[in-house]
Amino acid sequence: MHYHQYYPVDVINGPGTRATLFVSGCEHQCPGCYNQSTWRLDGGQRFDQAMSDRVIRDLNDSRIKRRGLSLSGGDPLHPANVPHVLALVKRVRAECPGKDIWCWTGYLLNELSDAQRELVALLDVLVDGKFEKALADPGLLWRGSSNQQIHNLNARGEAGERIPSLVCS
Ligand code: SF4
Repeated sequence: MHYHQYYPVDVINGPGTRATLFVSGCEHQCPGCYNQSTWRLDGGQRFDQAMSDRVIRDLNDSRIKRRGLSLSGGDPLHPANVPHVLALVKRVRAECPGKDIWCWTGYLLNELSDAQRELVALLDVLVDGKFEKALADPGLLWRGSSNQQIHNLNARGEAGERIPSLVCS
């Protein structure tokens, strides 16, 4: 996997102070996309073990307390990225207790493949859907157009199962 950009301290992409990784590779080609330079899977730099270690180290850095990790792009759920993002998310879960994980994707939650679902099961929040230029609204929080939805994946039903619930208004 390649990544386009990494912000070790970020207060824009998600709640609180975070670390944010923009991965390379997106197949949605939304008209009006402001991140076209992230479409190519081989753009940017290789996301190697050292980079994975750096993300974990930053999340655990007690000098600048991060609430969690944001995964954006590009598309972290591009099929070619899924195994690599899954490995990172598993590390965050195992090595960074208490940190939340937000992820932005152009795919729809109810249309994901089994591999994508395996990854999404480890997230706290998924913001889904392509960017729709006609529905763009700069006043929206954490999404570019009103068709996109913020799913709280930590909501649970009576039986304890995870039930995605919308948190956007
Ligand atoms: S999903 Fe995001 S990165 Fe991909 S084309 Fe659409 S707006 Fe651009």
